[in-house]
Amino acid sequence: MNNESFRDWGHKMIDWIADYFDKVENYPVKSRVEPGDIKKSLSDYPPEQGEEMEKIWQDFQDIILPGVTHWQHPGWFAYFPANNSPASVLGELLSAGLGVQGMVWETSPAAEELEEVVLDWLRQMLGLPQGLHGVIQDTASTATLVSLLTAREVATDFKSNEEGINEKLKVYASQETHSSIEKGMKIAGYGRKNLHQIPTDDNYALKPEALEKALKDDLNEGKQPACVVATIGTTSSTAIDPLPEIGEICRRYGVWLHVDAAFAGTAAILEEKQDLLEGAEYLDSFVFNPHKWMFTNFDCSAYFVKEPELLIKTLAINPEYLKTARDDQVNNYRDWGIQLGRRFRALKLWFVIRDYGVEGLQKLIKKHIELAEDFADWIQRQKDFELLAPLTTSLVCFRWNNNSHSEEELNKINREILEKINESEKIYLTHTSLRGKYTLRLVVGQRTTSAEEVKLAQNIIEQAKNEVLDSVQGD
Ligand code: PLP
Repeated sequence: MNNESFRDWGHKMIDWIADYFDKVENYPVKSRVEPGDIKKSLSDYPPEQGEEMEKIWQDFQDIILPGVTHWQHPGWFAYFPANNSPASVLGELLSAGLGVQGMVWETSPAAEELEEVVLDWLRQMLGLPQGLHGVIQDTASTATLVSLLTAREVATDFKSNEEGINEKLKVYASQETHSSIEKGMKIAGYGRKNLHQIPTDDNYALKPEALEKALKDDLNEGKQPACVVATIGTTSSTAIDPLPEIGEICRRYGVWLHVDAAFAGTAAILEEKQDLLEGAEYLDSFVFNPHKWMFTNFDCSAYFVKEPELLIKTLAINPEYLKTARDDQVNNYRDWGIQLGRRFRALKLWFVIRDYGVEGLQKLIKKHIELAEDFADWIQRQKDFELLAPLTTSLVCFRWNNNSHSEEELNKINREILEKINESEKIYLTHTSLRGKYTLRLVVGQRTTSAEEVKLAQNIIEQAKNEVLDSVQGD
């Protein structure tokens, strides 16, 4: 492809994306394909000769697009969102066009300095304490792994890096913690069995007294507590672990505190949601994902640390070929994360924050929370639906229950209701399990979701319920 052809196709594709934004609701939100459908339409071999863009583009439309699940669909209520926005797409495009690899300051001073500045904007927007230093990681999973590695080194006086892991190390998180903690335990060499999962209260939040007991018991057994992971917005129900109490315990026992606010952290940009981060003065590291609920397309995860020296000491490498004359004056982000090479992700974040402004972002987040509140009110008004967890931001956990079925039957019926809901192809919800109860999750966070889609969701849920109950009674 020469430049002229790139220009033509670029115009065409931007037009296509703009049309996609306009009419994404015309696609089935969840892809209809069966396993293997896409693969069997693709060539088993790479092409020997370059192909015409016209043909590649046609195949994109005919083969790839049917296999796409439309995360930007306004009927997206599944998992957590991974939303984008026009400004973020343009920022991403520029970043791809520049093709910058920002491993050290010199390889693109703007990439490093913009990242520093934009992350500090985020820190201010969320009301995180002054003195935290930010860096972009690809995902919250990576950020948490980086935190576990730093906690490991801090706990072992930086010996594990040199000599291998001290097997007595323990990590603590609630029973509702995200699976990335478990994965991080495996990768960082702690071993999965050394993750101590602490019981939760009726709101699915970690019980501080149980945490303290676990710390004491482990110390008595000669174990070494290395890290506590508190979650602000658990994946199943957006439960909020009590940060002030947990932080106080961590301080008393000298344990590293990592806070995982992957989804719900964004809500802290609202003044009325500032209490989510109460106790932030205790944290050693913190992560939240602009790629979930801040209109910045995947991937972009904001990671903050109190003492960057500890992070750098954990991850620094300094081969001759990477040394530069400016190393003592600048941040070289290669030492703030796992990978050496780094994309210019700050650009899209900068575009998004400038395009919306803080007020624009607040307005959208507030709207999502209000829509979730409306939906939760509707659930509560139904005589045969119930809420299964408190609504803390914009995720509603609920199920059908007319109080005349066993838990096992309820799980089956609710599973069938969810399947029926998703057969509508107009909305997409997913599920979780709360204390063994099959739970339907409806999360509002897609950029274009409005009251209209929430109303539509209510109608579809009602209809799905009726159809499932008719078939149950017919059995
Ligand atoms: N932490 C929590 C609380 C999450 O809900 C999720 C994903 O939903 C993650 C971590 C992992 O996020 P990522 O996909 O950025 O690794």
